[in-house]
Amino acid sequence: MNIILFGPPGAGKGTQADNIVKSFDLHKVSTGDLLRDEISKKTNLGNQIKSIIEKGSFVSDEIINNLIEKILSDKKYYKRLVFDGYPRNLLQAKNLDYLIEKYNQKITCVISLNVDKEIVVKRILGRQTCTKCGLIFNQYYKPSNKNNHSCENKYLIKRSDDNEEIILKRYKTYLDITLPILNHYKKLNLLHEIEGKTGIDEIFGKIRAIIASLEA
Ligand code: AMP
Repeated sequence: MNIILFGPPGAGKGTQADNIVKSFDLHKVSTGDLLRDEISKKTNLGNQIKSIIEKGSFVSDEIINNLIEKILSDKKYYKRLVFDGYPRNLLQAKNLDYLIEKYNQKITCVISLNVDKEIVVKRILGRQTCTKCGLIFNQYYKPSNKNNHSCENKYLIKRSDDNEEIILKRYKTYLDITLPILNHYKKLNLLHEIEGKTGIDEIFGKIRAIIASLEA
């Protein structure tokens, strides 16, 4: 099963992708995480990517599509992927269709988390990521504590692109460029839309029900 999680920045895609991975033994593909890995290596490419991300712009389709092909061609992940943050424009969606066919796979469903701008801004401003284990927390909605996190608090960081000005730019780009892809998936009969403004567990309950109904 290959699942696409769709929604604006701050919709909770990363958190829900982690939940899906745990419950259904899948593998998360977050293009944002892959790009941040490249940045942490401090390569030339990493430095270029850093300045693009900090402006709230998109990294080139060529870089993104190469990252995705490496994963889709890897037998370890065959039919076991949860996409978070990809595809983000129509060309990427068409490239994914091409790669899915090339590597003899299928998109099982697209789950869209619908959240409005005010909530997105608050969620992103509270977001914290653990640089040691990769888990995502939120200082308002899901603070790190001894029950949900075993690393020390010193590993929790805020992303450099998580400031209000850049969030608003990323949200607008989502509306203008990413949201129109939903039509593509609607036509393919793959789209499931979920109200994404409720709590993490409630949203995951709905996601789990959708996935379970497709597995049956
Ligand atoms: P995310 O972690 O998904 O919020 O992504 C953080 C940033 O990485 C985005 O604001 C973009 O600059 C870049 N990025 C992530 N995924 C993509 C993608 N599929 N296409 C282009 N840029 C991306």
